[in-house]
Amino acid sequence: MSRVKRALCWIRRDLRTSDHAALHYACEHAEEVQVVFIFDSNILASLPRDDRRVTFIHKSLQQVDEVLREHDAALWVRHGDPMVLIPELVEEFAADLVVTARDYEPYARSRDVAVKKALGDRFHTVQDTVIHEPGVVLSQSGTPFRVFTPFSRAWKKLTDVRREAPMLTPDLSKLLKLDPRRVPTWSLTNLGFSETELWLEPGQSGALSRLNEFQPKIREYEEARNFPSKPGTSGMSVHLRFGTVSVREMVRRAYEVGDEGEKWLNELIWREFYQDLLWNNPHVVKGTFQPQFDGLVWPGKPEHFEAWCQGQTGYPIVDAAMRCLNATGWMHNRLRMIVASFLTKDLLIDWKLGESYFALKLLDFELASNNGGWQWAASTGADAQPYFRIFNPALQSERFDGDGAFIREWIPELKDLPAKYIHAPATASSFDLSAAGVSLGENYPRPIVDHATQKEKAIALLASAAKRPANGPDKITNSPD
Ligand SMILES: Cc1cc2nc3c(=O)[nH]c(=O)nc-3n(C[C@H](O)[C@H](O)[C@H](O)COP(=O)(O)OP(=O)(O)OC[C@H]3O[C@@H](n4cnc5c(N)ncnc54)[C@H](O)[C@@H]3O)c2cc1C
Repeated sequence: MSRVKRALCWIRRDLRTSDHAALHYACEHAEEVQVVFIFDSNILASLPRDDRRVTFIHKSLQQVDEVLREHDAALWVRHGDPMVLIPELVEEFAADLVVTARDYEPYARSRDVAVKKALGDRFHTVQDTVIHEPGVVLSQSGTPFRVFTPFSRAWKKLTDVRREAPMLTPDLSKLLKLDPRRVPTWSLTNLGFSETELWLEPGQSGALSRLNEFQPKIREYEEARNFPSKPGTSGMSVHLRFGTVSVREMVRRAYEVGDEGEKWLNELIWREFYQDLLWNNPHVVKGTFQPQFDGLVWPGKPEHFEAWCQGQTGYPIVDAAMRCLNATGWMHNRLRMIVASFLTKDLLIDWKLGESYFALKLLDFELASNNGGWQWAASTGADAQPYFRIFNPALQSERFDGDGAFIREWIPELKDLPAKYIHAPATASSFDLSAAGVSLGENYPRPIVDHATQKEKAIALLASAAKRPANGPDKITNSPD
């Protein structure tokens, strides 16, 4: 593309200024660049007024603005429908070009098609949020993968880290100089949202310090990753979700560690596997990946769903995980697997309800990974947990929270129970319970279901569905832009 006079760089889920594909491209191809952000009213309208993600975005944007101001520029923020506002901003700034990073989620794709329609060649998208775009990693016969291991092998074969994960440093001297008095102010209150507490530091500074702190631990990741009370994982998912770090930086760090970085690298590849699955199988947004499970009627009770949401099931590991989610917007991966399995296979409740609850609460909510994780746990997904292999919540708890440290943190009612009872308080004698100040049915619930009984029911339910003939979803073809 030849150089233009002025470009807008529209940031969306790349809320940083360093190693930034869209900003790098805009600065290479324009004499002047203005960075813009739209608080999308189509998304914000359905969120609770204290949604943590809006606080995270707002604070991360403040950091972007601070960097731009060091260059006598400023972030230009609007609130409304981007399909209307982006063409308006093009007029307002007399811009010749809008550059933005590609987003592969269904809503984002339809939004970008509409903006492209309005702007034509003046709208340009670049790759930023993944190493390999959905639809690119293919089997030898040219078909998309449905299983993770061969996908990851093909992903690694395609990846020369210098080529696929280059550092894209934008030339910030190109930023449009602005009179600070001309720049409209923007605040959470004007958006109708209130500030909430965050469990981690937002913005690119938060991402960088977290990543620096985690990097020496990459080698121990394989051993440490399953224990919710220990900081064995990176906690970078929120930063990846909002692009306060580039995925290229994450992948470079994994490669720096060499073979011992492989396990962690695989997790980053899981993220791309699920994006690829969503891209090639858009029907998973509304239904099951394996179509024979689609008509399944889950017999679970609404009051059990409510107990699960509130952390009142009588299964301490499940309750502690849900209380942690409700209080912080965070849940450790092992716990996500446990509570998802419990909802679907112990409470026999439709995974879509759990998926929606996570979508509302998770600070790192990402459609593809959330849908993939839920369908994995419900055994309806690609490369999913076989339906007859069902987590025993008490055994998972003993294995991954042996001394009950995580449970004690989130369920103070149980904090004085000896470790041998904390995973299943109903197995303790009334003497031990009262010595620990626990009164089942009063200050902590009795188990709302019996695991052994529910396990048999779940296997029967899923086995009958697994035998049903599949109609198969409609074929939908994608292209990466
Ligand atoms: C039911 C369920 C729902 C989930 N919903 C989400 C979600 O909405 N958003 C989300 O980012 N992850 C989701 N995950 C995946 C995983 O739980 C989180 O990515 C992980 O807990 C984030 O912690 P971390 O950053 O410390 O990860 P680390 O263990 O440090 O891994 C590094 C990165 O790899 C990616 N990753 C790790 N595990 C997975 C995985 N299983 N699938 C896809 N990507 C992975 C994440 O981007 C993560 O930040 C879900 C998993 C399950 C079982």
